Amino acid sequence: MGVSVIIPAAGFGERMGATIGKQFLLLDGKPILVHTIERFQYCDMVDEIIVSTQRSSFSLIEEIKKQYALSKLRPPVEGGQRRQDSIALALRTIDAQSEIIVVHDAVRPFVHSKEITQSIETAKYFGASIVAVRAKDTMKQASTDGRVEKTLNRSSLWSVQTPQTFKRQILLDAYANAEKFNITATDDSFLVEQLGISPIIVEGSYENIKITTPDDLLLAEMLSKRFIP
Ligand code: C5P
Repeated sequence: MGVSVIIPAAGFGERMGATIGKQFLLLDGKPILVHTIERFQYCDMVDEIIVSTQRSSFSLIEEIKKQYALSKLRPPVEGGQRRQDSIALALRTIDAQSEIIVVHDAVRPFVHSKEITQSIETAKYFGASIVAVRAKDTMKQASTDGRVEKTLNRSSLWSVQTPQTFKRQILLDAYANAEKFNITATDDSFLVEQLGISPIIVEGSYENIKITTPDDLLLAEMLSKRFIP
């Protein structure tokens, strides 16, 4: 069963305040995106990796492919307005043999191989899986003016990360459904949930952070010193 990985990397990283996309910032002398791609390049279960990014970064992707010998990396795909548009455009180019599709944020370089393989195995069996960690903080629901409305039950709450992995047809159906009914989501699981499917949670690690703000970059520099894939 072929496995394709889609890495959305077309964000501008406004919250980082940098002039280049945060996925191209250097971590330990290497672009964050390269660390992320390598996690999948070295996973035996993965057959191909597709990065969606801005057209202006295409040549950089080709350079990265050569420099770091990323043999599984396919030609880049142009990203879209929203994260889900970038993924939808990449979905059109996946290998016809692929039965499993993994989606992973470009800015999560600290994903362990165990999370990737468990996520793929779980999706093969159940159709859909998401990597997540138990919520550490107590979570409140509040009104737009900041008044607490409700305290949520922490034992049933999870912070959701990527990889999120799906059988090909499930993800294609979810994206077709989202387009038809104009659904916007910040993760792929939500689009799949709209089909009435419940993805299975694979418990992940707190190291698998999404590098979003300058604080995250400081944390990432510390993590990279001790990270074991
Ligand atoms: O914006 P957010 O932090 O949720 O972005 C998560 C991932 O989605 C990042 O890797 C970013 O580059 C990507 N993205 C994208 N296309 C967009 C917006 C975000 O590929 N239009």
